[in-house]
Amino acid sequence: MTLPETGWSRDQIFATLIELKTNDLATEGGAAFAYVYDAGEREAAAVAADAYRLFLAANGLDPTAFPSLLRLENEIVGIAAAHLGGGPETAGSFTSGGTESLILAVKTARDWARVHRPEVTAPELVLPVTAHASLHKAAHYLGLKVVTTAIDPQTFKADVAAIEAAITPNTVLIAASAVSYAHGVVDPITEIGALAKARGILLHVDACIGGFLLPYFRRLGAPVPAFDLSVPGVTSISMDLHKYGYTPKGASLILYRDKQLRRHQLYACADWSGYTVVNATVQSTKSGGPIAAAWAQLHALGDAGYLELARRTLEATRKIVAGVAALPGIRVLGTPEMSLVAFTAEGGGAAVLAIADAMKTRGWLVQPQLQGRGSPTNLHLTISAGHLAVVDRFLADLRAAVEEVRTQPADPGLTMLLEMAGTMDFTALSDESFAQALALVGVRDGQLPARMAGINALLDALPPAAREAALITFVNDLYTAHGSQAAPSASK
Ligand SMILES: *Cc1c(COP(=O)(O)O)cnc(C)c1O
Repeated sequence: MTLPETGWSRDQIFATLIELKTNDLATEGGAAFAYVYDAGEREAAAVAADAYRLFLAANGLDPTAFPSLLRLENEIVGIAAAHLGGGPETAGSFTSGGTESLILAVKTARDWARVHRPEVTAPELVLPVTAHASLHKAAHYLGLKVVTTAIDPQTFKADVAAIEAAITPNTVLIAASAVSYAHGVVDPITEIGALAKARGILLHVDACIGGFLLPYFRRLGAPVPAFDLSVPGVTSISMDLHKYGYTPKGASLILYRDKQLRRHQLYACADWSGYTVVNATVQSTKSGGPIAAAWAQLHALGDAGYLELARRTLEATRKIVAGVAALPGIRVLGTPEMSLVAFTAEGGGAAVLAIADAMKTRGWLVQPQLQGRGSPTNLHLTISAGHLAVVDRFLADLRAAVEEVRTQPADPGLTMLLEMAGTMDFTALSDESFAQALALVGVRDGQLPARMAGINALLDALPPAAREAALITFVNDLYTAHGSQAAPSASK
């Protein structure tokens, strides 16, 4: 692929882009139970999109050159602080997403400890096994050791005694979830906060997905345990706006109990020959688009609008949980406390994963979650307000999909492959043998098969390190500058 010799017309460009999009997951209409948060409110979404366009060239790199962005960010942080039990001391930053917020929470803890606990030379982060992968990623990027802790096998909530036992003189940060992505439950934040406080350790609450919605669920009468900055011992909290704030993607927040702690998040560099750099977050050049769009979406819906969206989400969730739990051979994992549901099925991992394919052929995306760390192979649903309109159709299709999988005989080739996989060392496979193994489950030339159950079942059968190696090899091949076969050609 090279640049076109001369510029294309607007029509040609959009015809191509729209054609490319035809194979994508639909972001409206309720088909997606992961990746997409659809409020079903087209007018407010259009306001946010226009605000994005208005600010897409503005650069948050220099708040003195773009005081509007400073103002918008401070206002959004203020709204979030009020929403999450903060006080006048609360300080925060707007980031590109949950992962960036969590990287910053971990960096802040590491650098706070360098100043306040200089005896710690090998900092550790204590994480329940249900903590989001991006906390592991943050530790990986920043050189902290992760110490994982067990959860209650029935509730899927963090075990406080296990966290206490995992604390060492090197522990600088504990993280817990409100809610956890995988099972949608709130960890015992009050107890963990008391523990962290007593030991002088920082505590981050990952409320990336729960922070926006939980306070509304509480107002609607749902039982929501304490989880925010009002809990003693909680020193930082993250909340994504691009999830249940329904803002365009690229919008999250990290809040700290005060500015003295937030200070350790910042980075300045005057030791080069260019302009002086001071960055509050990971990004340096920072588009104004996501900030303006988030501000616009928050103002377009307002508190009453979000409360109504939460009401629809709660109603959709209750209907879906009841409907899923009533299906033969299906079990909901734990007791979902918000709008995220995980369920498993009789018949083993391959059968569970086959349900995802059977739903895909019916037009729905449900998200496979592989077994491990105390959780069986399951399917995940992230439910948003836009789903209320499609609940009955979804449940009818799920019933049919479950029935289809229950009555279809296991694929003997796949069963054999899975037995083999259990004995293979994927971390030591050559690229060629790896490609052969992938071909057996239908992956050829970087193209995924229509049915994913084979490849998912193969991954499900592998230990985590082998899964990681397999995924990295696969994705390293997927992104190639020589044209992706998965998409229609853009060069005609
Ligand atoms: C989504 C999510 C993240 C990661 O956020 P991204 O915006 O995808 O980077 C972290 N923690 C939890 C609990 C999440 O749900």
